[in-house]
Amino acid sequence: MELCFFNTLTRQKEHFQPINQNKVTMYLCGPTVYDHGHLGHGRSAVAFDVIRRYLEYCFGADRVIFVTNYTDIDDKMINRAKEKGITVKELADLIIPEYEADYQALGVKKATIQTKATDYIREMIELIQLLVDKDYAYELEDGVYFEIEKWTDYGKLSGQKQTELRAGARVESDDRKRHPHDFVLWKKEKPGEPSWDSPWGKGRPGWHIECSAMSRTNLGQPFDIHGGGMDLIFPHHEDEIAQSEAGYGSSFCNYWLHNGFITVNKEKMSKSLGNFFTLKDIFTKYSPQVVRYFFLTAHYRSPIEFSDAQLEQAKNALARLRDFFISLNYYKVQAQTAYHELEGVLKKLTVDFEQAMNDDFDTPRALALVFEFVKLINRQLATGNLPKKDISKIRDTLSEIDQVLGIFPAIEKKIDSDAEKMIKEREKARKAKNWVRSDALRTELLKKGIEVEDTPYGTVLKII
Ligand SMILES: [Zn+2]
Repeated sequence: MELCFFNTLTRQKEHFQPINQNKVTMYLCGPTVYDHGHLGHGRSAVAFDVIRRYLEYCFGADRVIFVTNYTDIDDKMINRAKEKGITVKELADLIIPEYEADYQALGVKKATIQTKATDYIREMIELIQLLVDKDYAYELEDGVYFEIEKWTDYGKLSGQKQTELRAGARVESDDRKRHPHDFVLWKKEKPGEPSWDSPWGKGRPGWHIECSAMSRTNLGQPFDIHGGGMDLIFPHHEDEIAQSEAGYGSSFCNYWLHNGFITVNKEKMSKSLGNFFTLKDIFTKYSPQVVRYFFLTAHYRSPIEFSDAQLEQAKNALARLRDFFISLNYYKVQAQTAYHELEGVLKKLTVDFEQAMNDDFDTPRALALVFEFVKLINRQLATGNLPKKDISKIRDTLSEIDQVLGIFPAIEKKIDSDAEKMIKEREKARKAKNWVRSDALRTELLKKGIEVEDTPYGTVLKII
């Protein structure tokens, strides 16, 4: 089976065909950097990190160009900077490193190209000028607007008709826009706000134009995949399509992928509802690895219910994996018999994993496969059935899979070099039948949270 995924634009699962066989181009809408990242930002970053990693797994790491942005100029930025008595740039410089730290903790790989909106003002102005020249945009006292009724495809991503949009819109009495959903491309300067020179006087870009300019500059147009949270489908992504396609006269992007919401008590988690948690809050209670694992337990398009019970479950699942890796690391057993099925089992794991990921990046299925495999191998470990040379084959296969999931590496670091020395010393003591010393070391290890269990087949370690 080849890679298929759900395309919001066509509302169906499609076989993925990149524009250029040797290159996959992908853009993800990043956060507005006026405040710390919350769980929703984390989910989007992790969902698209896994998607990007799987594309790298399929096409080669150097063939996937992944671009994402920080929006460092908009109303929220300006208001927050005012509140804090600092400049908008100072606010961005304060918050961006916080996002970087959170994302790194969550195991999100750095983008091939990480952009900031304010570095692309020239490109945004170029696109706005094109839209004005082609009569898709008009100027009012306070800014330049895109006229959606001039663009007949408007609504194709969100599946809305322009007449319905007009009927459903709240029109403000002083609104001079030609259609209530006409959106701003360039906002004219207000006192005390950051501004740049433009053919329409000093001002700053609207939000939507940023992504159109940054994606085209770095990936060309059309490019392959555009991602973001479901709440961005309308109007943000609809507007990106309209201005990019109207401006440049070619299709914008072929596949649109959107991740689902986080819910609390079945209600959407969001800043406006006040039921949200920052990543930093969560990390004080649960490790970032647990949070990453929790995200992967749901399909990226489904809503995911956030609760302590869910996080505890994720924590326990990761602990089981950790114990498994520790058993592999410290596996000292002289195999009684060979495990002839291993080659076949490893192959099947890889094939099944690829099948799960090829089916719209089905991470819950992929995790279930890993656990079935761990259960099977644990049985072999417990019965002393695995020759030591097989252990490295198991590790190799799992580390291939983890290039995509990114949940194993942190697990293995739990035993520090002090503990390793003690484990080795204890083995020596046991060989020399120095039970007093080996028991003392056992107690010491227990204090470090490492339980040593001696089985007829060898020593098994558990982290508690
Ligand atoms: Zn965007």
